[in-house]
This record gives sequence, C-alpha cells and structure tokens, in this order.
Amino acid sequence: MTILCYHSVEPDWESPLAVTPEAFAAQATWLSRSRQVLPVRNALSRLDARGRLPRGTAALTFDDGFAALHEHVLPLLTRHRLPATVFLVAQTLTPAGQAVDWVRTPGTGRLTTLTLDQVLEMQDAGVDFQSHSWAHRDLVDLSFEECVRDLRDSRELLSDVLGRPVTLLAYPRGLHDAGVRRAAEVAGYTHAFALPETAEEPGDFAVPRVGIYRGNGLLSVRVKAARPYLQVRTAEPVARSAQRAKRVLRGVRART
Ligand SMILES: [Zn+2]
Repeated sequence: MTILCYHSVEPDWESPLAVTPEAFAAQATWLSRSRQVLPVRNALSRLDARGRLPRGTAALTFDDGFAALHEHVLPLLTRHRLPATVFLVAQTLTPAGQAVDWVRTPGTGRLTTLTLDQVLEMQDAGVDFQSHSWAHRDLVDLSFEECVRDLRDSRELLSDVLGRPVTLLAYPRGLHDAGVRRAAEVAGYTHAFALPETAEEPGDFAVPRVGIYRGNGLLSVRVKAARPYLQVRTAEPVARSAQRAKRVLRGVRART
C-alpha cells in the first residue's frame, strides 16, 4: 500500500483536485474495512526502500487545507476512525490571510481554506496538521536562503498555533530538487512528501505519495493504493502501458 494524497473533497468544484463527497465516502468506507490506515508519522518508519508501506496498510494525506475538508472529510474520518494528516499553507492562517491563488483550475466558486478555529477543532478530533510551506510558492524557483526562510517560517508559525511540533512538509505541487530537500532539512523538518509523476528516488525528503483525483472511482483508488502501482510510478518514467496496468489490476483483484 501507499500514502494517498488528496486535495479537496467538495461537490461543486469541477477540478481534478476536488473529489466528490460521494466518491470520498465510498473510498473512506473501503479503506476502513479493507486496510489498516496508519497515522502518517507511524507510516514513515514502516516504509521500505522504495517508499512502499507494508501490504494491507495505507496512510491518508490532504494538501492545501481547503475549507471543504471541515464539512466533507472530518465527519467521515471521525465515523471510520481514520487517521489523516492535512498539510497547511501557513500564511492562510495569519491575520492578513492568503487567497487561494495557487490553483490552476480554480473553477467558478470562491475557494477558501480552513480557518484557525476549524483547524483547531479538527486537531481536537484527532486530525494531524503539518506544513505545506508558507505561501505555496514553487520552492524550486526560490534561492536556497529564500527557501529555508519560507519553510522555517511555516514550521514555526504552525508549531505555535497548533501547540505541537510540526516536522513534516509536503512540497507545493510535490516539486523539489536537491537544494529544496536540503533547505527542508535545514529548516527543521524530519521528512518531506512529494507527489511524483515520473521516476523519482525516494528518501526521507522525497517520500512518495499517490494523488487521488476527481473521477477516480473505487477501483482506481484500489489500484493506486496497491504496492505495485507505486513501484511502477517510482521505478519507471512511463507507467501507463496497458500491459503493466493490467498486471496491477490483476494483483488488486486477487487480493480483494
Ligand atoms: Zn498544494
């Protein structure tokens, strides 16, 4: 299994980033019945050299901290007792705030992020919050010093407002290079999560995740959550040949 990466869960935002509440409900039910969902921190110590979790386990993450998580995700996490980590853009919690200006498919409605009260309510309910940088800039475009400052400011602000250490980072858009990875370490993080589209060497500062997008039905979530899928994604740049996909599907069906 693997670490899954969602963004939002909401009905009206027609974007790959927004899974519908119905789809997420089905996926959460399936995960709770069929898999042991681990807190992300526990998952980190159980990853193998390829960034895969042991068979039968999974972990749930959400990037960006969209406000819709409070309405459409929190009740399901609570009902199914599913642990999850949400990666927050720190500046959105400041008094000045930050508009959701980083999304490439914003849709017609106004996108908002969780308020501090909602974050704290969710934290009380057991949701883990970690860093998604200060302002969701592409870290690979920053100088090393700018990158360290961005990531350190985020970690410090979030640690303060959450009242607990923040040591995990999800790179905005999953983008990183050697300088960004080193900046994350210098800024005080112990691990950072990527979202590899192509071959990528896994490590503590490049923990692979698999994105779940609108339109992914339960079957594709099963496929993406299976160990062979991540193996294909991290080991080979072109992962979508029909033959390989069928092999992955066969493996999933045999186990369920
Ligand atoms: Zn993001």
